[in-house]
Amino acid sequence: MALITKTLPAFACALAVNAACAAAPATAPNVAAHQPQIDKIVSEISPQRIEATIRRLVGFHTRHTMSDTESDTVGIGAARRWIKSEFEKCNAANGGRLQVAFDSHVAPVSRRISRPTEIVNVVATLPGTQPASADRIYVVSGHYDSRNTDVMDEKGYAPGANDDASGTAAVMEMACVMSKYKFDATIVFMTVAAEEQGLLGSAHWAEQAKQKNMNIAGMFTNDIIGSSRDEHGKADDRQVRLFAEGIPVEKDMSDAVRSLILTGGENDTISRQLARHVKEQGERYVKGFKVSVIQRRDRYLRGGDHMPFLERGYAALRFTEPAEDFNHQHQNVRTENGVTIGDLPEYNDYSYIAKVARVNAAALATLALAPASPQKVQMRTAQLENDSSLVWQANSEPDLAGYRVVWRETTAADWQGSKWVGNVTEAKIPLSKDNYFFGVQAVDKDGNASPATYPMPLK
Ligand SMILES: [Zn+2]
Repeated sequence: MALITKTLPAFACALAVNAACAAAPATAPNVAAHQPQIDKIVSEISPQRIEATIRRLVGFHTRHTMSDTESDTVGIGAARRWIKSEFEKCNAANGGRLQVAFDSHVAPVSRRISRPTEIVNVVATLPGTQPASADRIYVVSGHYDSRNTDVMDEKGYAPGANDDASGTAAVMEMACVMSKYKFDATIVFMTVAAEEQGLLGSAHWAEQAKQKNMNIAGMFTNDIIGSSRDEHGKADDRQVRLFAEGIPVEKDMSDAVRSLILTGGENDTISRQLARHVKEQGERYVKGFKVSVIQRRDRYLRGGDHMPFLERGYAALRFTEPAEDFNHQHQNVRTENGVTIGDLPEYNDYSYIAKVARVNAAALATLALAPASPQKVQMRTAQLENDSSLVWQANSEPDLAGYRVVWRETTAADWQGSKWVGNVTEAKIPLSKDNYFFGVQAVDKDGNASPATYPMPLK
């Protein structure tokens, strides 16, 4: 593909219809450069603090959603008050821009809730500092509730060190490190409850977001990111799985999904575009570590806190360790035939969790520094041609440098070629839309590129 990139003709400004073309930088911003701020964030994420957080969470004995809320030492009430106080401590040390709050609702009796129960998420919001981007929001979550073999057991010891104190600690660490820095867009660091009782905490927040018409431009859940060892003891601390949905499950097919399928765009949904971005940026900033994109919404027929977001039309992904050890999740702590069963902190790999947190942080930081993905990207179809003519709507960010068209062969997973086209709103690429998938990215003056937008047919 490098060959195609090199042999593409230089794009003359005459091709562009946008008056801003004249002001476009002569050379493209370097989208492969490291941003010093992100290198600092990645280096500040601490496995020691993550371990201390997880051991503290385990110390609440159980964090079952229906466990005690009065005690200061045991149960989910004590756990959530402690998480909130930790966010507040970091905020006080970091200049006070983090907005820390409980997001609470009472869940009625349902399959896994035997009496009306208050479900409380702990939410720390870092507002974006660029007015044109502050209403664009990225969410990162982990669930702080835990469970036993019996999902209704609200009293027994349920350490949940991996599932999901690991994700909770990663989110708390990210909030603590990243709230020292400024981002154009808003980042929400969220620890949610009642994942094990039916994704209730996440669903409540996602539904509020939908009703308020919030622009959630991307969401990741971190769930079971604690261990690098599989059930045979084989270690692999060099990759994390990133689950990314293709075509969403819908009762009635929407026009957007119909257009995707009609044009072969099943692998270019908003979640897949987000996953490409996370993989590229995560691997750029965390050397020697692979983000293995799995082209499924979650593990086979299983679920997590990204699903309520997917179901409301948002791009959402799930991070999970390479191979789960089922002896160490969703089970009462006990010894059987000399084997210890249960989700205990000694089965976590803290430097591994830190690596996954670094991938998250690098991806979130690039997303929140970059412009929004271009809107209304369309492929011209009025005339049959072997070139590909793309048009899109101009972005509004003041630090926008221009746009980059990316492409790949139809069987490829990741972008293979790209062309900087300047600050314009259309471009013609001398490659056939029959044989390649295209996307358009917005790029700022520092070289921060948005996830790509798939072109819909312009009829
Ligand atoms: Zn979980």
